[in-house]
Amino acid sequence: MNSIQLQDYIRDIPDFPKPGILFKDITPLLADSAAFEAAIDQMAAHYEGKKIDVIVAAEARGFIFAAPLALKLGVGFVPVRKPGKLPFSTHSFSYELEYGTDTLEMHIDGVAEGQNVLLVDDLLATGGTIKACANLVEKIGATVTGCCFLIELKFLDGAAKVAPHECFSLIEY
Ligand code: IMP
Repeated sequence: MNSIQLQDYIRDIPDFPKPGILFKDITPLLADSAAFEAAIDQMAAHYEGKKIDVIVAAEARGFIFAAPLALKLGVGFVPVRKPGKLPFSTHSFSYELEYGTDTLEMHIDGVAEGQNVLLVDDLLATGGTIKACANLVEKIGATVTGCCFLIELKFLDGAAKVAPHECFSLIEY
């Protein structure tokens, strides 16, 4: 179990979804229960004993890590989704992409004022997605305890955008 090298389960896909992009494919890791479990265990170990009331994650790949991590830490999971997908009243928030903007939504009762929130995603690239989630959490009056990722693309310096919140990742490129 300890000998598992998580990066061995990440596959490089050149020119996906656009020419010039080297996509980090996490599906080989998900397909191996020992590797998947090792990833969740390592994430949980980092946050054990920290004050966390709820985990927030954006669709779709963020959900994959957020749900088992929430169970392991004994806290709830709140989904952030693309517009029109959540059934109850939502907070809606937009953020800048390289070209244009994107919008995400979260139920208005998902996070309460004063709660400690852990943000989770599969991968930190430019930091735009997680920064937008952090901004919403803070607007509600809750605290971002940290941001947890399977993978961090260090060369894009997303952590600087998300600072002063801590970014923790299991695999760095
Ligand atoms: P950011 O907002 O630029 O940090 O991009 C992070 C988001 O884009 C995450 O939700 C990821 O799921 C997705 N993403 C970007 N690049 C990759 C990749 O190479 N593999 C998997 N997901 C990626």
